[in-house]
This record gives sequence, C-alpha cells and structure tokens, in this order.
Amino acid sequence: MNEDRLVCTFFTKIGACRHGEKCSRKHLKPAVLCTILIPNFYVSPSTDKEGGVEDFFDNFYMDVFVRLAEFGEITGMVVCENANYHLNGNVYVRYKNAESAQRAVIELNQCWFNGRPVHCELSPVENFSDANCRAYDNKSCSREYCNFMHTRRPSGKLKGLLYKAQQKSLVEEKLERVKKMVMEGTTDLKKDPLAPAPTSASTLLESMLN
Ligand SMILES: [Zn+2]
Ligand SMILES: [Zn+2]
Repeated sequence: MNEDRLVCTFFTKIGACRHGEKCSRKHLKPAVLCTILIPNFYVSPSTDKEGGVEDFFDNFYMDVFVRLAEFGEITGMVVCENANYHLNGNVYVRYKNAESAQRAVIELNQCWFNGRPVHCELSPVENFSDANCRAYDNKSCSREYCNFMHTRRPSGKLKGLLYKAQQKSLVEEKLERVKKMVMEGTTDLKKDPLAPAPTSASTLLESMLN
C-alpha cells in the first residue's frame, strides 16, 4: 500500500479530522511545529443582532491575539465557525518560531477562559489558505458539515491594526533591550575610566534588527 494513503490528509492540512482519535489513518505531526490549536474555543453568542455578534467576535479576536502575542511573533490566526464539532470554534495561531508555539501550549494549558480550562495543542497546519474553504468565503459552500475551515474574520481594519501593533511592540522591546545594554555599558565606564566606550545605540539596534 502506498505510504501516503496511510496518512490522514485532513489532519495534516486542517489539524482536525471528523474521526478524531478513531481515524483509520495516521495523524502525523512533524517534529517542528509553529502552529497551535485551541479546539472549540470560540463560542458564538446567542443574539439575533448581527452587529452584536460582530462586536463580540472582534473583542474575542483582539483579546486572544494580544494574549497570544506575549509568547512570540504571530504570523497568522484563524477562527473557524464550522457547524461540525471537530472544527467548531477552533482557534489556530501560527508563530514565527517553534519555541513560541511550544511556550504558548505549556502556558495556555494552565489557563482558564470563561470558566473552562483551556486545552491547547501543537498543530501540523502550516498553510491556512490551503485549509480554508473558498466556497464559504464566497457564501456558496453547500456542505453543512464541510471539513475545510469556515473562517470567521474580524471586521474592518482590526486584523491589520493588530499586526501593526505587534510589530511596534517588537521594535519597542528591542529598543528597551538596547537602552538597557547602553545603560549597563555606561555604568561600566564609570567604574573603569580606561574601559572602551560603549557601543552606540544605533549600532546595537541595527545589529538587532538585521
Ligand atoms: Zn483522520
Ligand atoms: Zn465549506
């Protein structure tokens, strides 16, 4: 039998499969994973006002993004609103580094959210657009229990603003480190007047941003 046929492509591509642990194919996870999955995390509020749901979702998206950016640089975040349980409310976050993903999983599994313990795992999903249901984006997916991601997106500019804020805070973090290093250098200089002059902030910053 062909090796590929033993691997569950749904699990590899979408990080979740309708058969779950009872799947007859292998659910393989590569050794280095940059994506985390928090299954069934987003729960849509029961309100008939669409504006209300939108605000609620935007707040949820922002809360989660800001909290998860503490573990490292986020390169992508997806929230699913599929009807089927194995994808419903799934939140996927992809980090630039595997270490950030690892740290996020360890920390989040000790957290509570809305009175429930958070369950979080590393996920094999590498490319969100491969996992996305394009028909759903065009409001034309006819499968009630579609196995591709039905992505719910935040409104307006929120997503762009969050990534911008993240970049800004990353630069600020680097600047803080530079400031600290320069300060430490200055202190050394006072102790020993013959010590070489501390490296300038701009040289340090340049080397860090490269
Ligand atoms: Zn499977
Ligand atoms: Zn679909």
